[in-house]
Amino acid sequence: MNVMELKCLVAGKPVTGQDTLTVRNPYHGGIVGTVVVASPADVEAAITAACGAGSPPSRFERSVILEKTRAALEERSEEFARTITAEAGLCLRETRYEVGRTVDVLRFAAMEALRDDGQIFSCDISAQGKARKIFTLREPLRCAVAITPFNHPLNQVAHKLAPAIAAGTPMILKPSEKTPLVALKFASLLYEAGLPPAMLSVLLGPTAQVAEPLVRDERVESVSFTGSVAVGKRIASTAGYKRIVLELGGNDPLIVLEDADLELAAHLAAEGSFRNSGQRCTAIKRILVQESVAEEFTALLVRKTAEYRAGDPFDENTRVGTVIDEASAIYLETVVREAETAGARVLIGGRRQGALIEPTVIADVPRDCRMVVHESFGPLAPILKVRDLEDAITLANGTRYGLSSGVVTRRMDWALEAVRRLRCGTVNINEVPGFRVENSPFGGIKDSGLGIKEGVIEAIKCFSTVKTFSLPWS
Ligand code: NAP
Repeated sequence: MNVMELKCLVAGKPVTGQDTLTVRNPYHGGIVGTVVVASPADVEAAITAACGAGSPPSRFERSVILEKTRAALEERSEEFARTITAEAGLCLRETRYEVGRTVDVLRFAAMEALRDDGQIFSCDISAQGKARKIFTLREPLRCAVAITPFNHPLNQVAHKLAPAIAAGTPMILKPSEKTPLVALKFASLLYEAGLPPAMLSVLLGPTAQVAEPLVRDERVESVSFTGSVAVGKRIASTAGYKRIVLELGGNDPLIVLEDADLELAAHLAAEGSFRNSGQRCTAIKRILVQESVAEEFTALLVRKTAEYRAGDPFDENTRVGTVIDEASAIYLETVVREAETAGARVLIGGRRQGALIEPTVIADVPRDCRMVVHESFGPLAPILKVRDLEDAITLANGTRYGLSSGVVTRRMDWALEAVRRLRCGTVNINEVPGFRVENSPFGGIKDSGLGIKEGVIEAIKCFSTVKTFSLPWS
């Protein structure tokens, strides 16, 4: 793959900045691209352009832009998958899947752009009423900012941009500096599909020069952020008087109960822990298994794990590529060694080579290990034994996070009890915590988010405001 030389974009035009960001492949360290980043003047120009964008295209035009982008992405899906693999080190199985998900986001957003979202309230329904009707309509924001993380570097971006376009809201995107290439390529697809340039700028650069001024600026009406808890809380404290949407980290459990189909449980545990190199906010970060079936489940998971070959992300046989960089892999290796010192046993995996860390199953993990108390963003599968459902729910809830969860059981009463009592945004029965479709409501509570949902339909609401008006109706 040739080295990509890209520039940040202000309303479709290259930035005036001079500084360059270099993007390296996490597997071999070679340069995959460079990006000319934004200057403070570019940040100002992007905000001015967004606020001056004027009336948005019609609903039909917005839908057509999203549909054309979808078609272009489908046509170039392999190129986009390879771009993600080059900059993020994720294997092709994952990056092709991610492009497919992004196609869905665009398709659903194109559909939603056409849907009339107004409501009508008759006013003669009370003794205090009148012969009037109240109507609602949704209006775009003047200017929104989206800040996205490195994992799922295309789909996270699409989950902000496509709903904003469907809502008619101009957007300034600040993608991760670790994965800027696919974000900039995606922006080009949108412009080529007819998006008015003023409706989108893509900026990168030092945090103090780009992200923080965008977050603080009073002309920006909404900041939609996906990333770590630490940065999310910093944004919450600096954004001031504006709408903020925070999709933060997770520490999701998979609860395996004694009546579970253990083959299914082992399959879900492996997929949930190792897909995307374990770098999903909703990856399984803790496996809570009822004592009576722990031994049998663990043996099945170890056997399954052997199928997840770690290696060169561009090799078609690789099932697990690298994590985002060597520092992250070293952190993962450290928490595994800490757990071992505390009495846990590594049953398979555990070795590191650069940014590559093998899918690792760790049994008998003490409940207070850093690996399971904080988010471990990598292909680790820590197993903790629980006495019963009660113990599992207490342990699952005993974390600062509350994003998602999975429960493997055949019993409806246990399934429903888990749905009722797990304090998190999603509960998936006999599925991985990360399961969703791109238009279903998604998002966490506690440190994982403020409970404001994303997903195409909900995100459109975040990028618009409801106007209420009434008319005489006699
Ligand atoms: P991160 O370090 O928080 O970075 C996310 C974004 O925030 C990047 O674009 C980063 O820019 C930017 N940023 C850094 N400091 C900032 C500041 N002071 N003000 C404004 N923006 C700032 O997260 P990450 O390591 O890329 O992503 C992994 C995390 O995201 C994990 O915790 C994962 O669970 C979470 N995540 C959550 C969801 C969800 O839906 N809940 C989905 C995916 C990921 P630079 O790249 O320039 O530093």
